[in-house]
Amino acid sequence: MSKRGHFFGDLDVDVQFDVHVGAMTWFGIGGTADMLVHPRSEEALGALVERCSQSDTPLRIFGKGANLLVDDSGVDGVVLKLDHESFTRLRFNAEGEVDRVLAMSGADLFSTVNELARQGLDGFSQMAGIPGTIGGAIRMNAGGMNGSIGDCIESVTCLDETGQRLVYDGSQLDFRYRDSNLPEGLIVSAILRLEPVDPVKLREKVMEIFAYKKSTQPLSDQSAGCAFRNPVIGGERISAGRLIDEAGCKGMQVGGAEVSGQHANFITTGTDATATHVRALMEAVQSRVREHHGIDIEPEVVIWSRDDRSIT
Ligand SMILES: Cc1cc2nc3c(=O)[nH]c(=O)nc-3n(C[C@H](O)[C@H](O)[C@H](O)COP(=O)(O)OP(=O)(O)OC[C@H]3O[C@@H](n4cnc5c(N)ncnc54)[C@H](O)[C@@H]3O)c2cc1C
Repeated sequence: MSKRGHFFGDLDVDVQFDVHVGAMTWFGIGGTADMLVHPRSEEALGALVERCSQSDTPLRIFGKGANLLVDDSGVDGVVLKLDHESFTRLRFNAEGEVDRVLAMSGADLFSTVNELARQGLDGFSQMAGIPGTIGGAIRMNAGGMNGSIGDCIESVTCLDETGQRLVYDGSQLDFRYRDSNLPEGLIVSAILRLEPVDPVKLREKVMEIFAYKKSTQPLSDQSAGCAFRNPVIGGERISAGRLIDEAGCKGMQVGGAEVSGQHANFITTGTDATATHVRALMEAVQSRVREHHGIDIEPEVVIWSRDDRSIT
């Protein structure tokens, strides 16, 4: 067994080396991960997190890569993907209550929206049309004009960087715009607090939210959703897309990366794009918005590179 393979020895995990994780993101570009690891159980996951911590091995978590840019030079250490069935399921009647669902962090958002609609459980329809996993959505407090995932969180179970299991009750959590007070670490699962409703009406609501999203965002292009966070100006949160549009950035290009003509806060990538193009275009947009409005806009997209060693 290779030295790298030896690191995982007895653990119940699948390991791949030098995997093109950039291609697995929604941008579809960027470099490789030295090790992509798929744990097969919560026990294996805990042991792996602890082992990475003890050996000072960088650890990152890849959801669906819907809000992620992987640098062209790739990333070192371990990238975790929670795609084994132990991490992708939903369990209905959690805690013996019909309106509580346990969602594992690797569960897909599109499937979760559909399954909950089929079961006539509302409280999650605000997530219609948003790509990603439960874990990635909680980390980003993903959402939109109809609300965010934090609105239906009853509790979140995490692992800290030593592999210790911690449960946060919803009352301890403060979900804010694309952020929360949830400490750094790995999200394992969440209990969703939902409401039984008529499944037919709920399906219509989900379809409406999705149709609106499709009419306003370039959902069929390669992107990571909104590239920049909406800044707070004079106590009010304002649309970064509007600022970018008013600064005349629509259609700006660097290599194969382009500011979408449909939604100015989306950067889309073509076949010849690189992560370097996207980063350069983001900097050019930030400069132009600063010159035009005197306002700094910050990236919403998470950027992974070899120099940064955080757990997420
Ligand atoms: C076409 C398109 C439309 C979008 N529209 C919206 C929108 O309307 N609203 C919105 O908010 N977002 C939107 N996004 C962005 C994206 O869908 C969300 O941010 C989503 O939550 C990302 O989830 P993910 O699982 O893909 O996370 P990733 O992109 O894989 O990761 C994002 C971050 O979360 C961390 N993470 C992932 N899983 C875990 C875990 N289990 N534990 C701890 N950390 C974790 C990662 O390490 C990383 O830091 C859009 C993206 C696209 C491509």
